[in-house]
Amino acid sequence: MTIIYIIAFIFGIIIGSFLNVVIFRLKIKKNSQAKLDLRGRSKCPECQKELSAFELIPIISYIILQGRCSGCQKNISWQYPLVELIAGLLTFLPLYFLGFNNVYAYLIIPIFYLFIIIFFYDLKNFIIPDVILASLFCLILIFDIIKLIRHDILPLNLLYGVLIGGGFFLVLVCSSREKWMGWGDVKLGFLLGLLLSYPHIIVSHLLAFVSGALVSLILIGFKGKNLKSEIPFAPFLILGAAISLFWGQEIINWYLKGF
Ligand SMILES: [Zn+2]
Repeated sequence: MTIIYIIAFIFGIIIGSFLNVVIFRLKIKKNSQAKLDLRGRSKCPECQKELSAFELIPIISYIILQGRCSGCQKNISWQYPLVELIAGLLTFLPLYFLGFNNVYAYLIIPIFYLFIIIFFYDLKNFIIPDVILASLFCLILIFDIIKLIRHDILPLNLLYGVLIGGGFFLVLVCSSREKWMGWGDVKLGFLLGLLLSYPHIIVSHLLAFVSGALVSLILIGFKGKNLKSEIPFAPFLILGAAISLFWGQEIINWYLKGF
């Protein structure tokens, strides 16, 4: 059994190196059209040296090269091994928690891959590409249809989830004229509501706001950022959603026990 988990982990790492390519190469043009150029091998952004076959091996090459380009010795972004590692873990964990026979695991894994892209893309570019959100919508739709057919979810809870998930940000964006949040956050909020439904969406959003506030305070305190500095919110939403997917029920039970 263990060998299957190891294969899942390695498979995830390989997908992770493709996710890196998407995160670095997906460009949003002025008319908000997305363009992904997959031609050509990956290059060092500093010296333009093409990566050798060995350097394309995820994580291991990073460790052996000690995080430096073999051409110019400049540091390679830590994002590469990090994304690969996270993708590996997020392939392994759903299978571990839900089991190999669980159809939901096979939907949650690609949903997590899109989560990873949104997390790092928003962190770097302060925008969530619509093409990624559209792909996420399709996966979540299949997820929900199966849940509804199998009576694993109440239609009303799904409706509440969507209303809470996106409605809250809709009010924030409209009332602040996009100062605090962007439209990307509204769209993502709706999708997360569709994925998590009520009441888990509340846990997810609360986690996002608490972690977002904490990180903002730390950045203001240590890095001299002020409240006007833009801090992307999607990474926190994604983090909250991923935690709620795994432990949402436990968190709700733990909270209710306090009363
Ligand atoms: Zn280089």
